[in-house]
Amino acid sequence: VTKIGVLTSGGDAPGMNAAIRAVVRTGIYYGLEVFGIMRGYNGMLEDDIIPMNSRSVANIIQRGGTILKTARSKDFFETEGRKKAYANLKKYGIDGLVIIGGDGSFRGAQKFANEFDIPCIGIPGTIDKDMAGTDYTIGFDTAVNTAVEAIDKIRDTMDAHDRLFIVEVMGRDAGYIALHSGIATGAENILIPETKTDIEALIHSLTEKEKRKKLVNLIVVAEGEEFGGAEEIAKVIKERVPNADTRVCILGHIQRGGAPSCHDRLVASHMGYYAVESLLIGRHNVMVGVINNKIHYTPLDMAVKERQAIGQEWMKIVKILAS
Ligand code: ADP
Repeated sequence: VTKIGVLTSGGDAPGMNAAIRAVVRTGIYYGLEVFGIMRGYNGMLEDDIIPMNSRSVANIIQRGGTILKTARSKDFFETEGRKKAYANLKKYGIDGLVIIGGDGSFRGAQKFANEFDIPCIGIPGTIDKDMAGTDYTIGFDTAVNTAVEAIDKIRDTMDAHDRLFIVEVMGRDAGYIALHSGIATGAENILIPETKTDIEALIHSLTEKEKRKKLVNLIVVAEGEEFGGAEEIAKVIKERVPNADTRVCILGHIQRGGAPSCHDRLVASHMGYYAVESLLIGRHNVMVGVINNKIHYTPLDMAVKERQAIGQEWMKIVKILAS
């Protein structure tokens, strides 16, 4: 490869800029020309492609979001759309791609690589951490730290008023943000999609606490919890434990933004470097991941969303530490 393109696609995640910077500067170091593709695959389709130099990625490592912007692209699902995208890449002579995104973006990349013989390398960027083939995804550490900071504040007022708080964090398919932030804030209960929620046991424990006149209780729930989100849980608790002063807080999009944590910047910088190296040595169509602190490569078509088992052991520890 001699000319590479880099894009961010799908949901944004803090640390994507650090990855873009690493890709651009590693590429330039090895004598490649690097192009930034705007708004995910849309930029390929609409010829929104800009040359990048070392300066274009100066002062972005600490910024959330993505300077290349991100989007979902309907047309890229169609063969016609991908043909158009390929023609645009050819105009610039781009012969390798780095895609920073989630499993959907990688599925698109794999298809594109098969059809047009453009090698593609994926870098996992998602706050949910639910990808096969890597222990870390860019953005998770920042998101979970944002959640911890917010929940700490909620705990202050919860404690002052003897309230029961249900805090909903992000994680449509995965409970990692809830699990990690819940443990780190000493939540009494953590409700995640990976384990079945025993609502009766929860009500029982709250009723017991109420009897002892000590109903200060923090419940952290993942938005994708099968029983329902914070509102649904609150509804049941208000009915069954009517004396509890129950409040709901949905953290929402603050979890996606903000300056990336040191950890996310490091992971992004590493992955960006190895993505370019992969293109150079012909290790094509893989996702760069980290497993047991070693760089690990997964074929793009196997880099799928994975609901990793969150063991009952974790739940036991949560219970013991909150008792
Ligand atoms: P994420 O990468 O965060 O999982 P999406 O699933 O929305 O986000 O995928 C991002 C984009 O990748 C889509 O809008 C589409 O352009 C492209 N894409 C996803 N799946 C496919 C597919 N099966 N074929 C072609 N393109 C795809």
